[in-house]
Amino acid sequence: MPVSTSDSRRADAFDRPPSPPPSRSRLWLEFVNTDAAAHATRGDLLRDFDSLVSWLTAFGALEHDRAGGIRRRAVLQPAAAAATLVDARRVRAALRMLAERGNTSARVCDDAVTEINRVLGRSAGTRRLERQDDGGYTRTFAPTGDAFAGLMIPIVESASDALVNGDLARVRQCADLRCHRVFADNSKNGLRRWCDMGTCGNRAKAATHRANRLARATRPPARGRDRDRDRDVG
Ligand SMILES: [Zn+2]
Repeated sequence: MPVSTSDSRRADAFDRPPSPPPSRSRLWLEFVNTDAAAHATRGDLLRDFDSLVSWLTAFGALEHDRAGGIRRRAVLQPAAAAATLVDARRVRAALRMLAERGNTSARVCDDAVTEINRVLGRSAGTRRLERQDDGGYTRTFAPTGDAFAGLMIPIVESASDALVNGDLARVRQCADLRCHRVFADNSKNGLRRWCDMGTCGNRAKAATHRANRLARATRPPARGRDRDRDRDVG
């Protein structure tokens, strides 16, 4: 299991660092979207421990000064860092199941709750409310025991909120079958289909437009239809 701490690989550890970071309610879905299913061409965004730390920092789930300490510890304890990465992927797999099927399957929810409680149960620490540079506020979790064990806390707390608040009914998979990203549909009518209108939504609109144009171009006029069809075939 590679445990990299190089700076050069951090920059491409995620698609676009969000600014500001996503709301706590969306954090777990963004985490699910780091997997290989959502990035078929580029593979898993959490490819090593350093990528995990970079992602958590970029998405507001880990403070920068704590991230420095975590990285230094990873150099000293590479096996523990590698095990933490494996565990993060395990949590992510459970949360993908929850995002995709939690709304229709009580068993899937139960499995996710077991996984969430496993993470919560082994992590001792202090919760704090802190003011950010931009004037906003954020909740933080400072582990008092194993620092690595606490890394997944913000992720599983975000998923816990979705269960507590009954938000699963608004969690969707992107309608583009190649995409596999999950998202929270906060639209008024609850009919949002794509993870992002700028990418998948636009692709779908363009494809519909092309299909309509092709249908119009190949539809023969009412009269002389047989003659046109013969010519097309020929
Ligand atoms: Zn999509």
